[in-house]
Amino acid sequence: MGHDGAFIFHAMHESKLIPTYNRQPVAFTHGEGAWLWDEQGRRYLDALAGIAVCVLGHNHPRITAAIQEQSARLLHTSNLYRIPLQEELGALLCKHAQMDAVFFGNSGAEANEAAIKLARLHGHRRGISNPKIIVMDGAFHGRTLATLAATANTKAQAQAQAGFEPLPEGFIRVPFGDAQAVHAHAHNADIAAVLVEPIQGEGGVRVPPAGYLRELREICDQQQWLLMLDEVQTGVGRTGAWFAHQHEHITPDVMSLAKGLGGGVPIGACLVAGSARDLFGAGSHGSTFGGNPLACAAALAVLNTIKDNSLIAHSSKLGELIKDQFRTQLSDVAGVTEVRGCGLMLGIELDQPCPVLVDRAREQGLLINVAASNVIRLLPPLILEPPQTDLLVTTLAALIREFCAGDTP
Ligand code: PLP
Repeated sequence: MGHDGAFIFHAMHESKLIPTYNRQPVAFTHGEGAWLWDEQGRRYLDALAGIAVCVLGHNHPRITAAIQEQSARLLHTSNLYRIPLQEELGALLCKHAQMDAVFFGNSGAEANEAAIKLARLHGHRRGISNPKIIVMDGAFHGRTLATLAATANTKAQAQAQAGFEPLPEGFIRVPFGDAQAVHAHAHNADIAAVLVEPIQGEGGVRVPPAGYLRELREICDQQQWLLMLDEVQTGVGRTGAWFAHQHEHITPDVMSLAKGLGGGVPIGACLVAGSARDLFGAGSHGSTFGGNPLACAAALAVLNTIKDNSLIAHSSKLGELIKDQFRTQLSDVAGVTEVRGCGLMLGIELDQPCPVLVDRAREQGLLINVAASNVIRLLPPLILEPPQTDLLVTTLAALIREFCAGDTP
């Protein structure tokens, strides 16, 4: 089939997909480390890693081997039976998080659904008949009905919610990064929990002030509210710690994970500590696929490789380097409002919407993302290497400079 034939073939089949995504006109055939190749054989530096998923990059030999070995042995049995790999993964996650137990699902939204259900159980246990959860402006927690309701009300998020009413009730919104705004609800006897991202991802790589999570921990302790951290995007080494809250030396009561956990194989997890451990019992929550042998084998390979290769320290160091380089190279560009982030979760905020930069970067062989319309978001794989960071910074800084000068076509 010639090139035109291939195009018509793809166009016909694409039209059979419900158009829920604004897809870019490119498809990838294979990858290696931080590189991806498209159907025409063109190479791209992947500074997005499937939106924070491919923490070990593409085609990592240890994930590949784990999946191959496990698939030749056993894919799935269901949670009607013991799953030793799930037990091993649960124990390892609890060790890294210093938490007590885990429930496994298949995605970030599912992990947060579990958290929301835990908050309600916690509320009812405390005699609250209509328990509420404090959530943040600019938050993103997923696309199921409850997580959509927890997702906050910026323009894009309002669009995500539009037409799906009635949304589940029970959420109270406050400004992100302002512990006093949470404390202001201390008189409200209906509140059972606070749900927050340690750094907002979809909201535009928004980093709260230092001490924010510690203050929330104190408020939750005083009020007997559950502190529930959505670490779906920030977790699994992304910010230069196993989990972003560890930068503040606190432990949440509930933590949701997904994205990087399986390195590309779908898996989500909801971890609990302390009194939150006893909220779910047999029959109160469940999932057919959650924590199946294949997904757990992949996640174990991810966690063990991160540890064996010291990728947390690596991502922390590299993140600082990239931030410094951008700050230096863009210091004289007036349209750059801020370069921020933690580890390899980085944002460059401009003073105007810049989604066009995604296309311009891709045309130059670089994959990036723009969140909240004016924040360039970088979530490269943790295995990124210094020569690749140079390429990333040089290419992107030149594009930003050109864009801010009004020269971008
Ligand atoms: N929570 C956060 C912080 C996220 O960034 C996302 C996805 O971007 C989700 C939840 C939803 O995860 P999923 O798409 O796996 O359901």
